[in-house]
This record gives sequence, C-alpha cells and structure tokens, in this order.
Amino acid sequence: MSDAHPLALPAPRPAVAALPAYVPGARGAADAPPPVKLSSNETPHGPLPSVVAAVEAAAAGVTRYPDMAATELTARIADAVGRDASEVVVGAGSVAVLAHILQAYTGPGDEVLFAWRSFEAYPILARIAGAEPVMVPLTAEARHDLPAMIAAVTERTRVVMLCSPNNPTGPILTHEELDAFMAAVRSDVLVVLDEAYLEYVRDASVADGPASLDRYPNLVLLRTFSKAYGLAGLRVGYAVGPAALLAPVRACVTPFSVSGPAQAAAIASLDARDELLERAALVVAERGRVLDALRADGWSVPDSQGNFVWLGVGDATAALVAHLAEPQPAILVRPFAGEGVRVTIGAPEENDALLARLATWDGPR
Ligand code: PMP
Repeated sequence: MSDAHPLALPAPRPAVAALPAYVPGARGAADAPPPVKLSSNETPHGPLPSVVAAVEAAAAGVTRYPDMAATELTARIADAVGRDASEVVVGAGSVAVLAHILQAYTGPGDEVLFAWRSFEAYPILARIAGAEPVMVPLTAEARHDLPAMIAAVTERTRVVMLCSPNNPTGPILTHEELDAFMAAVRSDVLVVLDEAYLEYVRDASVADGPASLDRYPNLVLLRTFSKAYGLAGLRVGYAVGPAALLAPVRACVTPFSVSGPAQAAAIASLDARDELLERAALVVAERGRVLDALRADGWSVPDSQGNFVWLGVGDATAALVAHLAEPQPAILVRPFAGEGVRVTIGAPEENDALLARLATWDGPR
C-alpha cells in the first residue's frame, strides 16, 4: 500500500476511543517476594473446601454450555433476599450486571449521576453505554453529598448510582438518607444502590436495600459474590429489583457469561453462608483494630463500613505508595492519584505489617 492512499481502518465510537482505563489493584512483580496484597478489596481467606469441591465437580461439565438463565442460582438468591426469581438478574460480576443496567436504560444524550470519588467503573460503564457521567463531589467527610446530587439531577438523568458503603472511602448511606433521596428524585429515574460490601456493614443506621424495594418502584440493588463471599475470581454478581425493571436488563446479559463452575461455587457459597459471614466478622474485627490503631497514630480516616480504609493524603499519594512498596515485601495498595490511598483489610499479620510501615511515614496523616 502506498502512503498516498492510506487504508481507512475501522474506527471505534468516539465515546469508546476516549474511555479512561480501569486501573486494577497492583499484583506484585514475578521476581519479587510475595507482596502483602491489600489493593483489590479481596477476602484474606482462602476458598472454602466445600466451594472448591463444587467447582471441581462442575469442571467435569465444561464441555457443555452452562444453564443460561442460572436457574438454580437465581432461585437460591431470590430465596436468600426474600424476593421472587423474576426480581433477580445474575451476571458475570456485579460490574457486568451494572453494564447491562446501563445498556438497558441509558444511551447518547442521557446522564448517569453518581458521587465522586466512588467506584471507578461507574464513569467507564456510563460512557460505554453512550451516556454522559455526571459526578458530584463527596463531602469533606468522604460521604455522598445527597442534596448536591438531587440538585444535579436534570431532565436528562436516567440512572443514579449510590454506593453504600462507598468504595474507596468507606462510609454508608443511612436509611434516612436513602428515604430522603428517593422522595426527592423523579420516579422515572432508575436508582441503583450498589451494596457490594454489605456483609461488612455493622452500622445499624445503614439503608436497608430489600426493605426499600417495597417502597420505591424505581430502586434496584446491586450485589456481588466477589467480596465477603470470596468468589472474585469466578465472576458472579446480581441485581435485585422490580421484575418489570429488570426484564430489559436480563435481555442485555451476555449469553452464558456466568460459567457452570461459577454458578456451582455461588450456590455452594450460599450453602456455606454462615461460615462466610463468620469470616466477614473477622474482617470487621480487624477493620476496627486497624481504624483504632491508625487514629491513635494521628491518621484522620473516614468511618469505613467496608473491608478497606481510606487514607486521604492528597498530593502525597504517590509518595505514600512508594513508602509502602519498600522494603520488601511490598505492601500493595490502591492509589488514586492526588487524592489518596485505599487499603484493603487483610489477615491480622498483613494488617500488622501495614500498621508498622505506616508508623514510619513522615508525610501528612
Ligand atoms: N461495586 C463496587 C462498589 C465495587 O467496589 C466492586 C468491586 N471493586 C464492584 C461493584 C464489582 O464487583 P464484581 O464485578 O467483582 O462483582
């Protein structure tokens, strides 16, 4: 081909060409000692033997397509949340379910409203759907600024994301706050309450998603098996909400995207719910210990109800990440440039290592 006649190559949609990258938590280098990995809000506990056995048994069936509707898993989730199966949509991680919600309800010219900083997938998924992300800054206490979010609703707003507890800062939305928000927002705006870290919440004032479903016909809950249920690597999440609202979401789900082993693991995890919730309680206890130790050491940390804590060190973020990375073993965290660092609660010895390293930090706290 001559340069004079360059081939016109396929071009992506402009919204896709301009997407910000999703930054996964750091994983550590292959040639370094195993790091203390506190970068992805994963559980510090290994998989339950019963879950591994279920995955192994399901592995024998992988020449077949899985049950596309995840019938048994959907029924089990519906049971667990006290709803009908038509009110549950399962997908390949809650991030995929959210993508399907946005595909179903938004497009060019529409706005998707959420707090910022919050879960970094929100602006990316909004843009992939063709919509415009609208971000409303968190308060000084790193909480959703709900009055400002209400004020930011326009006639183009189609979906509002609420994240409770908020990733990466940790505070919850209270029941009162959710009630006030739902009372103020138009009923044709779909409100998605992302409860990815629900099992770690101990604050009794937290917004009660399932109870709220009975009161608000435009509310959908987003849940995941990736966090307290320990299945981040298998990709299972779900939405709960009114059947009529979720039918279009179900229509958008990539066929067969939740594998047979993933479905089996999620069912086995529901069978082992008590055991998994005991493990979550250990994380909650460690969270309390870490928060207390940090505050005693002069850190100002928002109240986290998730399995992570937020160190809002602003411009010192890169320096803090470097401080945690050396000496070996590196302590890997999730930085947000210029804003702060999210640190996942790990096993007790990992948290000890974190606290010891933070004690020698001479930057802002
Ligand atoms: N929502 C929030 C608030 C999250 O932090 C995450 C994971 N980082 C997710 C949803 C997505 O989780 P998954 O796709 O693994 O279910």
